[in-house]
Amino acid sequence: MLWYNQHMIKLLNIFISFILSILTFFNVTDLPQDEGMDDGEEIVISGVINTEESSIENTEPEEILIPSTSNWWEYPTNIEECSRNGNDLLVLVNKGNQLPSTYKPTDLVKASNSGIRRGESYLLRSIIINDLKDLIDDATSDGIDLSIVSAYRSYSTQESTYRYWVSYNGGCVSCADKISARAGHSQHQLGTTLDFSSNEIGDSLGSQFTNTKASKWLVSNAYKYGFAIGYPQGYESVTGYSFESWHYRYIGKVNALEMKSSGMILEMYLRGKN
Ligand SMILES: [Zn+2]
Repeated sequence: MLWYNQHMIKLLNIFISFILSILTFFNVTDLPQDEGMDDGEEIVISGVINTEESSIENTEPEEILIPSTSNWWEYPTNIEECSRNGNDLLVLVNKGNQLPSTYKPTDLVKASNSGIRRGESYLLRSIIINDLKDLIDDATSDGIDLSIVSAYRSYSTQESTYRYWVSYNGGCVSCADKISARAGHSQHQLGTTLDFSSNEIGDSLGSQFTNTKASKWLVSNAYKYGFAIGYPQGYESVTGYSFESWHYRYIGKVNALEMKSSGMILEMYLRGKN
């Protein structure tokens, strides 16, 4: 029995050795390792692709998010000096385009030369007086009362104006940026821009002007005299300012008619010209 067991073990060892030698000859034992390496390489390659895909996916949303995270009242990072001279009726002055601090019109006269009420206290460029006079005369004929409550503001006056609005809003800069331009960015520095009011609202300045007969008359007729509303309703994201029904800029009758015909707001019309 013992002999039998020893003989069987010997035969088994020979058999195992034979099998192992066959496997070694055909290099069969490497196959699982190669497959393992291939899997590994596939994982690595997949990882690289996945990494690249995820980095692309991470980039695309950022590119989409840039405009939406930029709030409409904020100033762009890169602010440029106006491409046209301040004397040019079509110079683009906005949050991205700044007038030089030294720019001041040389032909400022009292707004009262146009016959507008309260005009003694405000200055406008002489180039707009004749058309403003026609506007006031025709409005008066239509039973409309118009007064002026702001006009030319120097760079330094605008600095004070903007500081006032920041202070008024308890130091809230974004609150001020929605309603008041920083110095150099105001159309009022041009001397061709004025804020209207009316005896309908006691010559006050602000949103109460929107529903006056005077405001509605201007919406229908201002362009005939060369004036355009600067910050229209619903275009805050384009202009960077809240709706101002009282704020009009003179660009000349020919330009105002062209702008009206194009259907563009002042901001877009001027962007096309600068
Ligand atoms: Zn204004």
